[in-house]
Amino acid sequence: MTAILSNMQAVRRAVTAAATAAGRPLDAVHLLAVSKTFPAASVREAYQAGQTAFGENYLQEALDKIDALRELPLEWHFIGPIQSNKTRAIAEHFDWVHGVDRLKIAERLSAQRPESLPPLNICLQVNVSGEASKSGVAPQEVAQLASEVARLPRLQLRGLMAIPAPTNDPARQRAPFVQMRELMETMNAQGMRLDTLSMGMSHDFAVAIQEGATIVRVGTAIFGARNYGGEQ
Ligand SMILES: *Cc1c(COP(=O)(O)O)cnc(C)c1O
Repeated sequence: MTAILSNMQAVRRAVTAAATAAGRPLDAVHLLAVSKTFPAASVREAYQAGQTAFGENYLQEALDKIDALRELPLEWHFIGPIQSNKTRAIAEHFDWVHGVDRLKIAERLSAQRPESLPPLNICLQVNVSGEASKSGVAPQEVAQLASEVARLPRLQLRGLMAIPAPTNDPARQRAPFVQMRELMETMNAQGMRLDTLSMGMSHDFAVAIQEGATIVRVGTAIFGARNYGGEQ
């Protein structure tokens, strides 16, 4: 058995265990395999282990893999930071975008989404409590951004995404996930129709699932440690 196959099986077991422990149906949690920095051959191996949804951060690297694997029925999620000059290629080649935190980026994605494709699925990135990163909209501003993004014709606003500051302490992992769940609940109570919470990575996906994650983005636990060589 290859490492990727056995890792996939272990991660799936852990996802199932966390969902079951939380009393959630198994089909409520989707596993996104984050393949950034790994070659197309690794994606193919994960596909052979039954995985179809893949997350990528770096546009050129992703486009190369999407092209190399175009005969496979894969779903591609862009999860990295988005610069304005990258929106066209993202709109043309991806099924989901998780890191939207500005109206201008959403407007460009909508305008550039080809008519031949279904609307692009969007998650708004929220800068949850204690996060050092500069990306993500502030929690108190996300409802306003959501109402503007929801009006764009070629986008389907699906929900919220977060990358909390990493910690291995489950007690401290939980707070931002609770904050995200409550944020989405509040927005839905105000009339939004969000069905996606994209949160949880290799070190904290079990806690994220307990708190309502519907997509967990798992890289290292599937593909192994990343080697960042050169420029990203
Ligand atoms: C790299 C990355 C992941 C996967 O992280 P792991 O710790 O390797 O599981 C998930 N989400 C985002 C946004 C990432 O950039």
